[in-house]
Amino acid sequence: MEDILIRCVSNDGSIRLFCCTTTKIVEEARVIHNTYPVATAALGRMLTAGSMMGTMLKSEKDSITLQINGKGPIGSIIVVSDISGDVRGYVANPYVDLGPNAQGKLDVGGAVGTDGTFTVIKDLGLKEPYVGQVPIVNGEIGDDIASYFVYSEQTPTAVALGVKLAKTGAVDAAGGFIVQVMPDADEKTIDLLENNVLSIKSVTDIISENGIKGLLDRVMNNIEYTVHEEKKISYRCNCNRNRLEKALIALGKEDIKEIIEEQGQAELVCHFCNKKYMFNKEELEDILNKAING
Ligand SMILES: [Zn+2]
Repeated sequence: MEDILIRCVSNDGSIRLFCCTTTKIVEEARVIHNTYPVATAALGRMLTAGSMMGTMLKSEKDSITLQINGKGPIGSIIVVSDISGDVRGYVANPYVDLGPNAQGKLDVGGAVGTDGTFTVIKDLGLKEPYVGQVPIVNGEIGDDIASYFVYSEQTPTAVALGVKLAKTGAVDAAGGFIVQVMPDADEKTIDLLENNVLSIKSVTDIISENGIKGLLDRVMNNIEYTVHEEKKISYRCNCNRNRLEKALIALGKEDIKEIIEEQGQAELVCHFCNKKYMFNKEELEDILNKAING
């Protein structure tokens, strides 16, 4: 089944909700990066949030990068998305092997660690990118993202992200929601929303049973709303030979010369999709010429 993202607003305008299923996206990430269970869950939560935050952007040319690093065994997790909600990402160490946490769940907080920051970089086509950064709350990612919205964007926000795995380690269900309260929100609506959010124990159970519509109904239970957008989302990398050629040119002529002399060829691997790009000697010499002549 395709992954779906829905954006809706309560009819009184006081609440905006993003929710999505990312089962296929997270499974694709797991296969690409060969992640162990706790890394699948951590990367999956980041990809789910990244997709929703991508669709918050205004222009097709904008992009958003989320990064978390709490000095835990997983190292950095990086995801990139844009207004399409399509997303890609990777973790520094996909082979993290941790036992369950005190609640018997995959120990995402333990893998990420809490000694560090959660960072959002938005490339909005301006001279400098927007950078927002908050200290990590607990490394579970959902709370860290909620904290980012509260402190960096001054928007009260609840975030729930879930990844449920089968015994084989494959992704059974994944998805989540980001719900935000606007400044002029009515007390009654806020109370309703709070009750709805608190009543949700597991987003992945809801997704498994009733899909994206089930999740939407639970968050917006007893609140009138209008769906503004519903679309398919997927794991998508936009790497190509031209981009990697530019990366090689950016190394500078000395480094390119060294590669030609010492290796005679170069193999570059995309971090996001593991696609390999080979450059032979002639191609590298061509790239060297471009580096010399600008
Ligand atoms: Zn790629």
